[in-house]
Amino acid sequence: MLKLVLATKNKDKVKEIMAILGDLPVEIKSQNDYPHIHDIVEDGNTYEDNALKKASIFNNITGLTSIADDSGLEVDALNGAPGIFAARYAGDGVTYRDNYEKLLRELEGLPFPERKARFVCIIAIVTVEHKVYFSRGYLEGYIIDEPRGSQGFGYDPVFYLPEYGRTVAELDSELKNRISHRAKALLKAKEIITENILGKTV
Ligand code: IMP
Repeated sequence: MLKLVLATKNKDKVKEIMAILGDLPVEIKSQNDYPHIHDIVEDGNTYEDNALKKASIFNNITGLTSIADDSGLEVDALNGAPGIFAARYAGDGVTYRDNYEKLLRELEGLPFPERKARFVCIIAIVTVEHKVYFSRGYLEGYIIDEPRGSQGFGYDPVFYLPEYGRTVAELDSELKNRISHRAKALLKAKEIITENILGKTV
């Protein structure tokens, strides 16, 4: 059976990825199964650079088909910031709340229609033969002016979806995992694995 390794220790991400890829005839491992692999510094200039760096290192060390993701938040009124720096927008070692409070300060006074934003997720796959594939997923919404909801993580409390009349932090995890940028990128990654990788190995 094809073995895949996920270049992440994040248990929520592993769970979400397993839920989507779980019905493929593959055995899925994660960074938690390779404790000797240290966390990889995300120092690229793009989501693609960061995801590819993680997937390539895992591929080199394990010899397995490797999957890594990188995600972030782009706000139009801030010319795409915080982008790939979403996790450390307010500085190193900050909380999710520090980050979204900084964002709210930056957007203070801006009317709703000008607060458009999107979550971005890029997934890189590196195969046993070192072939590289990317898949991408987006979730469009608006940054509202105060946090709402307690589900999710990161910028979810301030990211509003007009079609649901709720922030992402007000959605249950089952719904978020169906519509999120990560879910969309993962579904495309699943197609890539089915058509280009499994087709050749089973
Ligand atoms: P990473 O992919 O773990 O590097 O995520 C980068 C950062 O983007 C996170 O720390 C969050 O601040 C933000 N982010 C990514 N995905 C989400 C999401 O689904 N909800 C809220 N924030 C997110």
